[in-house]
Amino acid sequence: MNKYVLVTGGAGYIGSHTVVALLQQGYTPVIADDFRNANKIVLAGLRSILGHDPLLYPIDICDKQALTALFDKYTFEGVIHFAAYKAVGESVDKPLEYYQNNLVGLINVLSLLQSHQVKNFVFSSSCTVYGEPKGEKEVSETTPKQLPESPYGYTKWMGEQIIADFHRSAPEIKLMNLRYFNPVGAHPSALIGEFPIGKPNNLLPFVTQTAIGKYPHLTIFGNDYPTRDGSCIRDYIHVQDLAEAHVAALDFLSKQQEGLLEAVNIGTGTGTSVLEIVAAFERVTGLTLPHVIGPRRQGDVIEIYANATKGEQLLGWKARLGIEDALRDAWAWEQHLAAL
Ligand code: UDP
Repeated sequence: MNKYVLVTGGAGYIGSHTVVALLQQGYTPVIADDFRNANKIVLAGLRSILGHDPLLYPIDICDKQALTALFDKYTFEGVIHFAAYKAVGESVDKPLEYYQNNLVGLINVLSLLQSHQVKNFVFSSSCTVYGEPKGEKEVSETTPKQLPESPYGYTKWMGEQIIADFHRSAPEIKLMNLRYFNPVGAHPSALIGEFPIGKPNNLLPFVTQTAIGKYPHLTIFGNDYPTRDGSCIRDYIHVQDLAEAHVAALDFLSKQQEGLLEAVNIGTGTGTSVLEIVAAFERVTGLTLPHVIGPRRQGDVIEIYANATKGEQLLGWKARLGIEDALRDAWAWEQHLAAL
């Protein structure tokens, strides 16, 4: 019998890698994605990797009627909910769109879990819920959350709150917030990867797009922070590891007899600075990456990385790949795109 899993936003960056991982582990993903923030190139890549078309419904999950029809059609083993806007800067300019899309989408999915007796749910959360860690830079799931800096951050923070309240009202459902650190890299086939629309905000796509010649140089946002080399530190997690974390989360939830709500950090446990990323990229590719030091970016967290032990203890999952693997795969993907 097919184990159908609804993957909202399954044509996006993390979603598409998770679709591959789900299929490899015996699940049948059903993608709901209206492509407003995804690219058909990723769909072609998915087709090549899988050898067939994935099950795909181009619906807006804020359209409750369309989403209900999908829940009527399939008996889902679980839902992995990615579909959301994710650009921090854009969220400041378009807060209502962010709240509307990210929160209404989540509420629709949760209410359909309940009405259709779907028991397992995984939410794309973010380490943004920790804000700038006070004191210790390594954060665990029990580190107190802080109010976010941006409407985007609030949608994750409020998303977790909505899920917590939902849990009290529907204690039989098994819920997991995966708090991603910084997803990077691409599938080793270089057939799917991150597809930023317009000028990238995130570091990695900016690095690879600079290396391919789209931008004259990378600007490093500040080198006067109180870190080992003055640049900010993040925990960069390979998207392949991240995809596998979702399958591990779903496997774990499926085995539980009782409802629950857990949050799990998905990171490597190691911090890497922006300057270290530049050096590692040059080492892996043999290229010189033009870069200049610029002013600090407003609202940047200085240093944060995951305590990743809960993921290992609870889910039996831990990151296998390192930053060099991620940079190599991200670069292969950028070259693949350039060759299309
Ligand atoms: N960054 C940078 N130049 C860029 C983009 C990002 O120096 O063009 C830095 C940014 O200041 C941060 C790190 O790279 O310290 C990661 O930024 P990103 O936006 O990818 O992730 P986030 O800050 O949301 O964790």
